[in-house]
Amino acid sequence: MKEKILQLKAQFSQDATAIKDQADLVALEIKYLGRKAGALTDILRRLKDLDATSRQEIGQLANQLKTEIEQKLSALKISLSGQAGERQLIDVTTPGLDFPNGHLHLVTQAIREITDIFQRIGFYRVRYPEVEWDWYAFESLNMPPDHPARDEWETFFIDLKPVGLKGQRILTPHSTSGTARELENQPPLRSINITKCYRRQIDVSHAPMFHQFDGLLVDTNVTIANLKGVLDYFVKEFFGPNRRARIRPFHFQFTEPSFEVDVSCGLCDGQGCKMCKAGWHELGGSGMVHPSVLKAGGLDPKKYSGFAFGWGVERAYLMKAGLQIPDIRILYQSDLRFLNQF
Ligand SMILES: [Zn+2]
Repeated sequence: MKEKILQLKAQFSQDATAIKDQADLVALEIKYLGRKAGALTDILRRLKDLDATSRQEIGQLANQLKTEIEQKLSALKISLSGQAGERQLIDVTTPGLDFPNGHLHLVTQAIREITDIFQRIGFYRVRYPEVEWDWYAFESLNMPPDHPARDEWETFFIDLKPVGLKGQRILTPHSTSGTARELENQPPLRSINITKCYRRQIDVSHAPMFHQFDGLLVDTNVTIANLKGVLDYFVKEFFGPNRRARIRPFHFQFTEPSFEVDVSCGLCDGQGCKMCKAGWHELGGSGMVHPSVLKAGGLDPKKYSGFAFGWGVERAYLMKAGLQIPDIRILYQSDLRFLNQF
């Protein structure tokens, strides 16, 4: 029996060199390891008839050969499939596939451009939670519970108990909540917070989710002149070198004094035309950070002063593009006929 095994081994080596394709390989496997009539299978089956001593010796030899055959078969299989791959010729004259080329959504384009403009004068981009505490969205911004100024923000409240020290959880209705968080850091601060905001309102000029950005600069001896300079810089970079910024007195809870920010009309340069309200377009809000807001952030208003400004990303971008779209919600409907134009 030992001889038979050695014979089989030699025979297998010979047979293996003659393999040309997958069919030969299958036949070879059946010849030696086939379950019914495989030559080696037959030997393994007869092991049980041997006495204990030779069973151990022969069994070891037979199993060794089985492993060798299996390894050789799988090596042959791999080399045969490699050859088959090489035989599949590629027609180099076939035209390539034309994949459609996408581009960034216009809101993303606007966010990147705004970030880039402010980074050039030393601001850094920050991101804060969209699921926010009442404290950062309202209370630290000079709007205690039941303050009527809160009505301006159609806020989504999250019905989650228990309510903690920082109040109810909400979806942040404005990017200023991030500014309140930024104030907890040690000055000098020069942050740009651009974030998604949520309000319970939906019509042609409002989407329940939109983007706002908030700039903040806090240091020693910051004045309104610094604010005006930064706004003017932004307007020229974003809208064009001939545009100007204007600030007008207004009221916000979290700034004192507060201003509305306007941009000079690109068509009439502030003279007044059909496209603008008396030469100017309204852009957003700004002001010097209110002393109690600084205090809420843990800063000493006698030592530090600062300004903040902010507006809607979508609105600013549409103004820049000179676009008047009939329904602002089209920005989020993923309609390629609209988006492909940008
Ligand atoms: Zn005009």
